[in-house]
Amino acid sequence: MREAPSILRKALESARGARRDREPFLAVFDLDSTLYDLTGRVQKIIETFAHDPERRKKYPEACEKTLAARIHPQDWGLKEGLGRAGLREADHPDFFSELHSHWLHFFFNNAYLGEDRPMPGAVEFVRALENEGAHIMYLTGRDTGRMRDGTLASLRAWGFPLGHERARLLLKPEPGLNDARFKLSVLQNEVRAYRHVWLFENEPVNLNLVRENCPGVNLVFIETTHSGRERAAPELARVPHFETDWLCKGEGAS
Ligand SMILES: [Mg+2]
Repeated sequence: MREAPSILRKALESARGARRDREPFLAVFDLDSTLYDLTGRVQKIIETFAHDPERRKKYPEACEKTLAARIHPQDWGLKEGLGRAGLREADHPDFFSELHSHWLHFFFNNAYLGEDRPMPGAVEFVRALENEGAHIMYLTGRDTGRMRDGTLASLRAWGFPLGHERARLLLKPEPGLNDARFKLSVLQNEVRAYRHVWLFENEPVNLNLVRENCPGVNLVFIETTHSGRERAAPELARVPHFETDWLCKGEGAS
């Protein structure tokens, strides 16, 4: 049986204690590469590009290799997955340029959000917190105009708590806003209302800014993949996902 990551257990116990003491508790979750594995979305985007007849005519070899490529959950962007399939930007600069534009359009779009899958244990963990009386906030760098409808549909489809005042979705009102500053400003506001605030997030840039400017927030680094622009502080609590043996109640846990 796997040992439960203690930080997730600690978060649940903290929510339980807050409810007992009648103190407001907020659990904030990033979406991309935190609650969701984006592999399916990225795979779909590159495949639609490589299946397009015009692109196939223009880049026959690169399109074939793209269709053979398999994106992994740890990949950031396209280069790693395509590199494993033998495609390198230096050899196919025009192809990569067009593919990147295609990716940029469809990644930040409702179209393929249905391809995302929850990280292991994610739905169960958010629900468990909600059951302990925590308020839930999904705080994402996705923006309202391009991604709200698909995000709501996906959260509902997978059974994440939503649709009442204790479970809210906050997207960026404008695409151009800096993710980290947007999230910080939201959290700085929330800590005034909540005695306990926890943030679950995969991007060190976001974690570091919150850590420096909003020290009351409990941080959990979801160690999936990230931009590589900064490193998470070594002392931060971290888990690779939300799957734990205690969520299985010992039945069939392995
Ligand atoms: Mg993220």
